Amino acid sequence: MAIINIGDHIEKVLWTEKQISDRVSNLASEITRDFSAAAAPVFVGVATGALIFLADLVRKIHLPITVDVIRVDSYGSGTVSSGKPSISCDLKSDVQGKHVVLVEDIVDTGNTLSCLIEHLKAKGASSVSVCALLDKPSRRKVSFEVVGDGKFYRGFQCPDYFIVGYGLDFAEKYRNLPYVGVLKPEMYNKYPSEI
Ligand code: 5GP
Ligand code: MG
Repeated sequence: MAIINIGDHIEKVLWTEKQISDRVSNLASEITRDFSAAAAPVFVGVATGALIFLADLVRKIHLPITVDVIRVDSYGSGTVSSGKPSISCDLKSDVQGKHVVLVEDIVDTGNTLSCLIEHLKAKGASSVSVCALLDKPSRRKVSFEVVGDGKFYRGFQCPDYFIVGYGLDFAEKYRNLPYVGVLKPEMYNKYPSEI
């Protein structure tokens, strides 16, 4: 059977596995310092993109936290946001009166986060922080504000490329790359089944 190396589809690596791991450790230390064990937060990962980041991050948090996921659909199979996120699978946890840390892979237009922050506020969270591995501030269309004493934790500032890896997909592929990179332009012109 032919071995397909999806790494061959990558034009350039922006952050290596080691760089990501070091940054995730720093973010986890910051968050651990900012909260207390008596009011340990609920970590909410935004599926599917943030799942790998969430798994790495929570294992480095030294507090008695809980973990949940929420699913938001906004992208379809393209590279441009439809701009109208909808919650397709809600939290299992009751976040009323609790601190929440929303864990996101990347903030682009800001639509997804602003929708989720409003949602968590409406559920009565006492604070909502955001921990995003990547941020593309140049693409922001909607500004969002953390809630209460919440903070915005950001891993890296990302240039305006469509990127894949470490949870981020193109047509649901490439999430399992251990690094973050830019796809070769010819890959965008293929049908998902050809990638
Ligand atoms: P926003 O609502 O801020 O425009 O977009 C947020 C979501 O879009 C992210 O959670 C992520 O899933 C997706 N997204 C934004 N930029 C990129 C990108 O460069 N690559 C990939 N694969 N997904 C992206
Ligand atoms: Mg996402």
